[in-house]
Amino acid sequence: MRAVISPYYEATGPSQMLHRGSFVKHYDVLQRGQAIYSGLVEAGCTIETATLLDDENSECRDLILSIHDARYIDYLKNAWVNWSKIQHSSAEILPNISPNRHIAQFNEHPVALAGWYIGDAAAPIGEHTWRNALGSVSAVIEAASGLKHGESAMYALCRPSGHHACQDMAMGMCFLNNSAIAAQVLRQQFCRVAILDIDMHHGNGTQQIFYRRNDVLTVSIHGDPTHFYPFYAGFEQENGVEQGEGFNVNLPLPAGTHEVIYLDALNTAVNKILEFGAEAAIVATGFDTFKDDPLGCFELESSSYYEIGRMLKSLQLPTLFVQEGGYFVPALRENVRQLMLGFGSS
Ligand SMILES: [Zn+2]
Repeated sequence: MRAVISPYYEATGPSQMLHRGSFVKHYDVLQRGQAIYSGLVEAGCTIETATLLDDENSECRDLILSIHDARYIDYLKNAWVNWSKIQHSSAEILPNISPNRHIAQFNEHPVALAGWYIGDAAAPIGEHTWRNALGSVSAVIEAASGLKHGESAMYALCRPSGHHACQDMAMGMCFLNNSAIAAQVLRQQFCRVAILDIDMHHGNGTQQIFYRRNDVLTVSIHGDPTHFYPFYAGFEQENGVEQGEGFNVNLPLPAGTHEVIYLDALNTAVNKILEFGAEAAIVATGFDTFKDDPLGCFELESSSYYEIGRMLKSLQLPTLFVQEGGYFVPALRENVRQLMLGFGSS
């Protein structure tokens, strides 16, 4: 399998985030990128570094704007520079106030914009956030183009991830929705595209983006949001609206879910994708379902990813893996390797 990596896959991550009320070292550490890279190499993938696209590139700009709000993109591009002009501002932008049920008047002050466009305290914006996000998008566009031109499977190593990014809001370490942008590329070739999210956390951004569409099926297997991030979305009854009704599938699972239960849910997801008649699949690939992950609550083993890979292969569809989470660095290389070997990567 060809793997396309972001030119910034081993960039320094953000410094901190809020987790259960405390500031902790941010979990998106550069060693994640290095471990995933090693796993891909060991599984026999051919590694290519993506050519960096920016919004001067019309294809890249049009694809981003086909998913994201223009004012939000403008914010992401300029946020850090404008923030830095405020006296005594921090090195990274974090919202200290957000619009809510009772106050939601748009305001262009940098502090107000941070609250407006950043949905939680896990997505700080620093000097290189926009550059790194473009690196992820570059990798995913190049990988999706591979499928469009006849490859049977591709991997996009994106850092930062994308599945929590909504049309006009960053959250959960995500800024641009890489899987959604990939789906736009694949739709140029395939009539029906499925996005299957196997990250520990519900792919709320991807759901929001495609909630009214019937050409892209979104399926997510994740920790039950009753007790787990992102808390406000990911419930079973969220099925899509208008034309998109019936084209969003959520499969929430309880804390402690082990391989047998997980694979049963994955089997359900596979059948939904086949019923939909997908012509290509995007797998939003997270490894935070691993038993020791600091941000997870499932009990998957390294060998579970081999079984997941095998089931994904059974779809017999052109398949694009897009990197999402996975924060237990010591097992990340092996878990990537198992997934790729199960799928049959070489
Ligand atoms: Zn996750």
